[in-house]
Amino acid sequence: MEFLEYLLSRLHEELNSSDSIGTLTHQKGHQKNAEAEASSMAAWRAYTNKNNSIIVDLFHGQLGSTFTCLKCGKTSATYSSFSHLSLPLPTTKTRRPVPLLCCIEEFLQKEKLTDHWRCPICKAHKGAEKQLTIYQLPLILITQLKRLTSENGQPVRLSKKVEIPIKLDLTTYVHSPHGPTSERSQRFIYDLYAICDHQGDWRSGHYTASVRSLHRPGWNGFNDREVAPLAELETQNEILVRQIHDSCFM
Ligand SMILES: [Zn+2]
Repeated sequence: MEFLEYLLSRLHEELNSSDSIGTLTHQKGHQKNAEAEASSMAAWRAYTNKNNSIIVDLFHGQLGSTFTCLKCGKTSATYSSFSHLSLPLPTTKTRRPVPLLCCIEEFLQKEKLTDHWRCPICKAHKGAEKQLTIYQLPLILITQLKRLTSENGQPVRLSKKVEIPIKLDLTTYVHSPHGPTSERSQRFIYDLYAICDHQGDWRSGHYTASVRSLHRPGWNGFNDREVAPLAELETQNEILVRQIHDSCFM
């Protein structure tokens, strides 16, 4: 993922046809859904004015981070672009695989901050609630699972399997100015294009990839220099259950 992020970022820098290099974030306070929509659109226009490349057109989306002061209730938001979503693995007691949508729901969960955020009204670092909102989704969506964590000070790789849908519908997870349950004119439905698996632990291991074939129905497996059709993915399964690391949807 680090290499892919670097590659996309370098390609964008080389292909960016905008003269001005600007900041990637834009801050604006908001209270209501419609105001948040206007703020996010203004931030997105400012971002795409300064970042104009096919990489942005294909891979970049926009996230909003909303902070609410737990003392005075003041809300403020920051908007930033992303080239992939880095998703947490929900902690569950069962050994069952976790649906990828649960990882997205966990990503969008409210989070309590103790003293990292400075409230502009209280003029002090007060406790706050942070929530991420997806405002723009890219044409090609890359997700990464945060599998590295630590237990008792030691790095650990989480081996939980994830259910990846062949069709991923994120329509209800994208911010709507009229509220989450409103009818949307635009739908955000993706087809799974590629997944990256990892075997091993946090110290070492081996990556392989499964990529949908562009020339015939089915999938190809990429294992170092070997590329071969993947018979087990030829069937019309609607969900893949794998210990994936990254996935790519188009
Ligand atoms: Zn405050």
